Amino acid sequence: MRVLVTGGAGYIGSVVSAELLDAGHQVTVLDNLSTGHADAVPAGAEFVQASITEADPVLAGGQFDAVVHFAAKSLVPESVTAPELYWQNNTAGSLALLESMRRHDVGAIVFSSTAATYGEPDTVPILESSPTRPTNPYGASKLAVDHMLTSYAAAHGFSAVSLRYFNVAGARIASDDSAGSYGERHATETHLIPIALQVAAGLRPELQVNGVHYPTPDGSCVRDYIHVLDLADAHLRALDRASARAGDGQGSHLICNLGSGSGSSVREVIESVRRITGRPTPAVDAPNRPGDPAVLIASNDKAADELGWRPTRDLDRMVADAWEFFQRLRPEVAGATGSGNG
Ligand code: UDP
Repeated sequence: MRVLVTGGAGYIGSVVSAELLDAGHQVTVLDNLSTGHADAVPAGAEFVQASITEADPVLAGGQFDAVVHFAAKSLVPESVTAPELYWQNNTAGSLALLESMRRHDVGAIVFSSTAATYGEPDTVPILESSPTRPTNPYGASKLAVDHMLTSYAAAHGFSAVSLRYFNVAGARIASDDSAGSYGERHATETHLIPIALQVAAGLRPELQVNGVHYPTPDGSCVRDYIHVLDLADAHLRALDRASARAGDGQGSHLICNLGSGSGSSVREVIESVRRITGRPTPAVDAPNRPGDPAVLIASNDKAADELGWRPTRDLDRMVADAWEFFQRLRPEVAGATGSGNG
C-alpha cells in the first residue's frame, strides 16, 4: 500500500513508519520538524518537510491509498496556556488535511486520537462508549477531529479509524547499533518513564511523585502503559481495515482504545526503572499535578474484537526498551556507572 504518514518524524510516527516499511508498504513522511527529528524518518521512507496544511501537492501527485495522521501538538500544559496553537494545528490543520484527501480521492485514514478525549472517567476500565468530557484543550482539539471523521464518513464515504492511546512507552530497538531504532526524545519532557530514566542516568537529581494520597493501593496515580510496538501493530491492522473498506463508498468510522487493560502506579513504574537500570533512581513525594485523575485504565475489548489486536509487551519490557534507546542516544551519560540489564 502507498501510505502518507503525517508526523512521521515524531516518536510514535517514526516507529509506525518503520513498521509499515518492514511490512512492505511504501511510506511518505510529511513532517514540518517543529518537534520531530529529521534523522527519525526511517531509511526507505520518502520525506517531505511541510506541515499538514501543505499536504495538497503531496496528495495530488502521490496515488496514495491511505493516510496515517499523527502530526499534532501534544503538551497538555501548553494547550491550557496557548489553546490557539491546539485548535490551529490539531483541529484546523486536520480539517485542511481531510479536505486535501477529499480533493484527491484518498478516503482511508487512521487517526491518532487520545484517552484525553474522555477526561475524568466515572468508572474504569474506560469504554469507547464512555462520556467524552476532555479537561484540557489538547483533548478537546483531538475530540473535535474524531467528530469530524464521523461526519466525513457519513457525508463523504470516508473510511476512518481513530485510535485512542493511553500511556505510550518503550521504543523500537533495531538488532544492530546502526539505524532503525526509534524512541521518545522530546525537547520538553513531561512523561513519567523518560523522566525517570533521566533520573536513573543522573541527568536529574530526583523524580517527583506527583500525588501520594490518591485513592489507589499505594497512593500514587495509576495509568495504563502500552508499548509503542504494540501500538504500531494496532495501526497496521487499522490501516488494513480502513483501506479494505475505502472502496465500498459506504463510509465507516471505528473508534478503539489502545491500552493494556491494566494499570501501573507511579511507584510501580519507579520500581521497574530501578530493576531494569540497576540505578538508585531517587524519588520524592510531591504535590498532585492539577487535573490528574487518580486512575485511567482502558478497556481494550473493542480493539480485540474489531482489529484482532492484543498487546503482548509488559511494563518491564517498555522500560527496558526505552532505557536501551536512551543509552544508544546518550551513551556518554547512560553508560557512566554501569550495569543495567535492559
Ligand atoms: N508523573 C509523576 N512525576 C513526573 C511525571 C509524571 O509523578 O515527573 C505522574 C503523573 O502525575 C501521572 C503519571 O505519572 O500520574 C503519568 O504521567 P505522564 O505525564 O507520563 O502521562 P499522562 O497520564 O499525564 O498522560
